[in-house]
Amino acid sequence: MTSTEALDVLEAYLQRKGLKTTAQRRLITEVFFDPRFKKDHPSVDDLFRHVRAQDANVGYATVYRTMKLLVECGLASPRQLGPTDKETRYEPESPGEHHDHLVCLDCGHIVEFENEAIEALQEDVARAYGFAIKEHRMVIYGHCTRTDCERRPSAGAHP
Ligand SMILES: [Zn+2]
Ligand SMILES: [Zn+2]
Repeated sequence: MTSTEALDVLEAYLQRKGLKTTAQRRLITEVFFDPRFKKDHPSVDDLFRHVRAQDANVGYATVYRTMKLLVECGLASPRQLGPTDKETRYEPESPGEHHDHLVCLDCGHIVEFENEAIEALQEDVARAYGFAIKEHRMVIYGHCTRTDCERRPSAGAHP
């Protein structure tokens, strides 16, 4: 979903609730759907930093409340990707799209993946136990192989 589409959804939702689409709410939504940050799984802190870079008058509470609105109208999903990361992170919703996550325990790097075989197996498991899946979350924890992972000794110290 593009930020223009997201803004339409938000505007319709706010109108139903008798609320105004303020310039700050628009900006926060645009930043959240900005293709540059879209896969970052930002926390409210992260978004606050990005938003402040564009408008120094936006307050933290406004970012926090706008993210709550985006969740309410189905544009954002909160994610608790723990176990070492205690922050709530947000992900833009794209209807009809699903992915799971790999999380590095050292640097917090998050990778998204889709695997049809895993999805199908989950259906099998649910069926075997008499469950109809409504949603699921799979997070795989481990150590990433990025060269700038915090776990890695610096290249200078260990050539
Ligand atoms: Zn994701
Ligand atoms: Zn890492």
